Amino acid sequence: MKRPFRNVPRMTLHPPYRLLMGPGPVNADPRVLRAMSAPLVGQFDPVMTGYMNATQDLYRQVLRTTNDATLLVDGTARAAIEAALVSLVEPGDTVLVPVFGRFGHLLVEIARRAGAKVATVDAPWGQVVDPQAVADAVRAHRPRVVAVVHGDTSTTMRQPLADIGAVCAEHDALLYVDATASLGGNDVRTDDWGLDVVTAGLQKCLGGPPGSAPATLSDRARDAVRARTHVEEGLRTDADEPRGTVIGSNYLDLAQVLDYWGPRRLNHHTEATSMLYAAHECARVLLEEGLDAAVERHRRAGAALLAGVQALGLAVFGDPAHRMHNVVAVEVPDGVVADAVRAAMLDDFAIEIGTSFGPLHGRVWRIGTMGVNARKDAVLTTLAALEHVLRAQGVAVPPGGGVSAAQEAYAA
Ligand SMILES: *Cc1c(COP(=O)(O)O)cnc(C)c1O
Repeated sequence: MKRPFRNVPRMTLHPPYRLLMGPGPVNADPRVLRAMSAPLVGQFDPVMTGYMNATQDLYRQVLRTTNDATLLVDGTARAAIEAALVSLVEPGDTVLVPVFGRFGHLLVEIARRAGAKVATVDAPWGQVVDPQAVADAVRAHRPRVVAVVHGDTSTTMRQPLADIGAVCAEHDALLYVDATASLGGNDVRTDDWGLDVVTAGLQKCLGGPPGSAPATLSDRARDAVRARTHVEEGLRTDADEPRGTVIGSNYLDLAQVLDYWGPRRLNHHTEATSMLYAAHECARVLLEEGLDAAVERHRRAGAALLAGVQALGLAVFGDPAHRMHNVVAVEVPDGVVADAVRAAMLDDFAIEIGTSFGPLHGRVWRIGTMGVNARKDAVLTTLAALEHVLRAQGVAVPPGGGVSAAQEAYAA
């Protein structure tokens, strides 16, 4: 049966104000929201193409790279992950994925869909993969692509990357990194670490809304993508010696997207104008503060939150030596219903904290301090609310303990 036609609702949307302290999305910086309300311009207006160039330049700085091929993929972070993998991986290629959380499994799935033979090096949730084990696996499997997550919010672990790039280069493997959750709040060094392709999203430490995904490709990665055979529609006939297979996506074909962002401005999709304004402002906010200062601010906020939850008597999940700065996995005390605490945080305090997936479901809350929310007052407010909610659930928590410990961590 068809639904009856209804009148268009007369009311605009009025989302409630929330303090978003989960693993993302987080509250967007008000400057970013203001930038998004600027007027639209046409996609080939010199003003717009100038903005595109400026945005590329800003993200070269954010990603610490001189890569010419630096751009935005229109979509959430996953769009850029998929663009990178479908554009790099040809059917039959071997792809090596170090897996230490949910997003590693995502890389495996996307690589398989692109026709890859996938090999994994696995670490239990709460640990990272030993870089030596990755190096051994590169030697054993000779992959065309190594695809790895930098910070995996599902486990809060940050994979050491600095030593993987050299091994990949030595064995002619391209190194792809998903830095969505780490960029802006943890050190990410594209060129120094020899990362061939890095992608991100705005809604974590970059402090923007989901919907735009900064990405960068080394010359080696760009050349590999551009050498792929193209679709014979007169769209692209520029590769000197077309090789390999047609990239299995039109929208996410980085060879075409790069031609749109490059000097030739070949029409592909329409760049998402307002999201570009957002991405541009996110980068400006970050670079004005300074990359190192922003990482340090995230480190301090994360350390204060950690001290606070520990002072409330709560245990923290994961190897402390490899925790990301910007998200803490707090173990749910025995007898407490994880979702009841999240609901009370939201209903009574308008604070969102995160649930968890897979083996950690119901076992931990994930509390994020990212972007504009990596801030002392946000940390203290969250801890004060958590203390009250836990007490109401029957947990014996020391009065004021979490806030005091966080204050001390900030004073240290
Ligand atoms: C949050 C996160 C993403 C998010 O992808 P979306 O498409 O923006 O939802 C991707 N990768 C990692 C590692 C993340 O933590």
